[in-house]
Amino acid sequence: MSTNESIEFRLQAAQNELLVADMIFHSVGAVMVTDAQAHILRINRAFTDLTGYASADVVGKTPRILRSGHHDDAFYAAMQDTIARTDQWQGEIWDRRKGGGVFPKWMTISAVKDDHGAITHFVATYIDISERKRAEDRIEQLAFYDVLTGLPNRALMQERLKLAIATNADTDHYGALLLADLDRFRTINDALGHTQGDALLQQAGLRLVDCVQGGDMVARIGGDEFAVILADLSGSQEQAAYKAQTTARQMLAVLGRDYQLASSAHLCSASIGVVLFQGKQANAESLLKQAELAMYQAKSDGRNRQHFFDVALERAIIERIQLERELREAIGAGQLVLHYQPQVTVVAGICRIVGAEALVRWAHPLDGLLGPGQFIALAEETGLILPLGAWVLDTACQQLAAWASEPETAGLSLSVNVSAAQFLQDNFVTQVLTSLAHARADPCRLKLELTENLLLNNADAVIATMNELRAYGLRFSLDDFGTGYSSLSYLKRLPLDQLKIDQSFVRDLEVDTNDAAIVRSIIALAHSLDLAVIAEGVETAAQKDFLMHLGCHDFQGYYFSWPLPLADFDRHLSD
Ligand code: C2E
Ligand code: MG
Ligand code: MG
Repeated sequence: MSTNESIEFRLQAAQNELLVADMIFHSVGAVMVTDAQAHILRINRAFTDLTGYASADVVGKTPRILRSGHHDDAFYAAMQDTIARTDQWQGEIWDRRKGGGVFPKWMTISAVKDDHGAITHFVATYIDISERKRAEDRIEQLAFYDVLTGLPNRALMQERLKLAIATNADTDHYGALLLADLDRFRTINDALGHTQGDALLQQAGLRLVDCVQGGDMVARIGGDEFAVILADLSGSQEQAAYKAQTTARQMLAVLGRDYQLASSAHLCSASIGVVLFQGKQANAESLLKQAELAMYQAKSDGRNRQHFFDVALERAIIERIQLERELREAIGAGQLVLHYQPQVTVVAGICRIVGAEALVRWAHPLDGLLGPGQFIALAEETGLILPLGAWVLDTACQQLAAWASEPETAGLSLSVNVSAAQFLQDNFVTQVLTSLAHARADPCRLKLELTENLLLNNADAVIATMNELRAYGLRFSLDDFGTGYSSLSYLKRLPLDQLKIDQSFVRDLEVDTNDAAIVRSIIALAHSLDLAVIAEGVETAAQKDFLMHLGCHDFQGYYFSWPLPLADFDRHLSD
């Protein structure tokens, strides 16, 4: 290549470079070029569009004029440090527009050097990321905030709780988690419609926000459930508990005020569970469970109140869960036993055992013999009453069959307690008949004891089932009579054989004139409906005499015998 040719070529190359630079300057996002001392030399059109500054506004000045005040000196120092080390910086930065508005942008700064490595220029390019930021914020809003109330949601509450636990672990301070559940909100929601229900929730949320201070949080963590985190209450447990209680009271007060809804004003109280936390052992998930337990306790204490979580409550619940598991196993493991309490009839001064009531016991491997008071309610709540009741029926039928084969016991009848849930099963009749058939027991000797609560909502179905079983010869006794709600009209329709006077009326029979009057009426009622009558809980000769005097001749109670294990019952019979 000749000298001329070479000059020609270099000129062409330089021109091309200029062209490229010019294209970049006109086509890409905002660009700003400064000299080595950061004096602005040139900006492009996009820069003006983005910032509102024209060339005349900025050339000769430094980029400081763009500063938004969002970043501190350390931020800019770190930026300069990075450029000094790597010739480049990239990141998000908030700048100010000419009119004053602040906006986020993604900026890249590159240092341009000459052949000797000395910086000659800086080139900064920007992209406006306001849109992206808005989208990000919206996503965060959706992920961490409740749409209806605008309050933090469960996820954000849990994050905040974790943070509070970690902070308090360092300072040894106490914080509190309060869980507020609106009382019977569902009824209001169903009655007034969801729009008004939503309005009530929004008002409730706003009121709660007024109960807390800056560092605390109110969140909506479920339908009508709000959580309040009081992050840092005090170094003293007592103080912290007092403060948490004060806030809970305030919450109850504000939530309990009238809610102005479209249709009219409404009341809706709340129940609050409170748990304190401190130290490293606290954990967000278990705190939430504990607050929930306390909240449920507040509900079962009567609602519109607060309850502090305490270890005794937790222990009671853990014990209950354990008992349920053990009871489930006990049924299959042969740990249940029946005791038999004689039922006697006194005729012409002579006392004769005519039957027995089967009363279930649980021979617990560690706790010894447990009475039904310790597990029947649990069995009913958990549904275990069904297998338990089936076992009792089977065992009672086998016992009846065994008695039938001995002359001195052949005439005994056996009463079995039947729970409502058990009786209301679709196949209850089949179950009873199967138990009787398997054991080859006489249905006429089996008496089922029902309680009045069974009749509350199901009278027709109950009567139908009773009639079906009665057709096979079974008999029915109404247990604990006088303590329930059965009306006389029901009683007349029920195919009963016997009323069983509840022991609570027998206890003070001779001294309490009310009890005496009730017992007298029950006996008269039984006679007029042509039903047999038996008194339970008879403990003294005086009670027996009094009852005889009123016309009751059938008895069950400690005066005659305790409920006995089978062997003792047999021995008692032959005495
Ligand atoms: P219940 O059917 O009214 O049984 C009478 C209860 O009174 C029995 O208590 C019995 O031990 C007690 N008792 C008997 N005589 C006297 C007395 O003279 N004085 C006093 N103070 N009490 C007396 P227990 O065995 O603890 O049974 C309590 C309840 O548990 C029963 O009341 C019954 O409702 C239920 N239960 C017992 N066994 C079963 C069962 O197999 N199935 C179902 N579903 N419930 C049962
Ligand atoms: Mg009974
Ligand atoms: Mg009873």
